[in-house]
Amino acid sequence: MRLKWQSREIFSSSNCQDNEMSLATRIRQEVANNREHIIALAQNLIRVPSFSGDSEGLSEIAEITSAEMKHMGFSVELVEAQKGLTNVIGKLQDSQDAPCILFNGHVDVVPVTDEENWVLAPFSATVRDSRIYGRGACDMKGGLTAMLAAPRIVRSLFHNMKFNIILAATVDEEIGGFTGLKYVVEQGLKADMAIVCEPTDLSIVNICKGLLWLKLTTRGKSAHGGMPENGINAIYKMAKILTLLEHHDFKQAPHPVLGRPTINVGSIKGGQKPNIVPDSCQADIDIRYLPTQDHLTIITELKNLIADLGESDPQIEAELEMIRYRSSLEIKKDSTIIQTILAGANDIIGREPGFMGMISPADSEYLVRAGIPAVMYGPGHDSLCHTTNEWIAIDDILEATCIYAAIILRSHGLESYSDSC
Ligand SMILES: [Zn+2]
Repeated sequence: MRLKWQSREIFSSSNCQDNEMSLATRIRQEVANNREHIIALAQNLIRVPSFSGDSEGLSEIAEITSAEMKHMGFSVELVEAQKGLTNVIGKLQDSQDAPCILFNGHVDVVPVTDEENWVLAPFSATVRDSRIYGRGACDMKGGLTAMLAAPRIVRSLFHNMKFNIILAATVDEEIGGFTGLKYVVEQGLKADMAIVCEPTDLSIVNICKGLLWLKLTTRGKSAHGGMPENGINAIYKMAKILTLLEHHDFKQAPHPVLGRPTINVGSIKGGQKPNIVPDSCQADIDIRYLPTQDHLTIITELKNLIADLGESDPQIEAELEMIRYRSSLEIKKDSTIIQTILAGANDIIGREPGFMGMISPADSEYLVRAGIPAVMYGPGHDSLCHTTNEWIAIDDILEATCIYAAIILRSHGLESYSDSC
């Protein structure tokens, strides 16, 4: 859908009773009126230790998100791939005319491995210096709060307006999203466009590298370590291949935003004792690739590389196995979702946000694969994700709430908004 209105028009509320006040001001006021509720909601979410895969924490947080959605009049569906790993999908679909906008946030958090180093207890959700501290505050309960709060704002400003909004609070993004958004999408979730509210410091992430994890295994022949000539050392064979990988050139022109594809060997295992020639060695490899590449072609390319090495060393025996992949993605800047975000943000902050690339698409991959154009756009600095003493600024949550509210209104068109205010 092309938006019919110019950004200045949304500020003028000429059909409204209070025609002195711009829409941005009205949204900001309503968010200010709801400030205590929004902060309390963020704290309630942060206080739950909702670790990935932990049914107790994830069920508890599902109760909070579903209660919030029901309170705003959403119909709520609980979607579980496994008992207790509860995805909460809220739908408000009163309008047939507007495209359906989906907001997604993951509710799971990574573990706390160094609690002794936290200045404030990781699940206390303490407010200090206008920040809320806690595991998951930035990644991404701040964004989750904003997406849950924005419909409350637009509904209280425009009682009679019909909306077409889906909120998806999903589990297990931190471990791949298989029981989370991936499963929900497989169950038939549909929308016309989506915002994944991950912390991007309110820059639009419309382009991401793909991710490919491989397990490389070399095989040899064991022998006494004092007579290595009787064996085949799988670690030496691995070393030859890894040296090739270290210098491998994918022959891709550098991407203007994402740069070059990368390879990292992240772990290696092999052998048992100094006096035994190792007969096997495994390495885990992480590849980040460009939208111009695809994971299957990369695997073929690396298999060919190893096969070529085998011509000069016939003793090389190696297997390459795919562990997982995430597609790269690129959403065009003239797409409806990006134009809607630009317009909504401009309404609130008077300028358009910038763009950013990322090294992984996170859960937005599943939406894009299902044909739902999705970008990441949310409050919080991504450098704070998974850190000790993680925090999010309260103002960032409130700002995102204002912008999401304006985006919802933008996605619903001027006519319905001006008639209803
Ligand atoms: Zn996240």
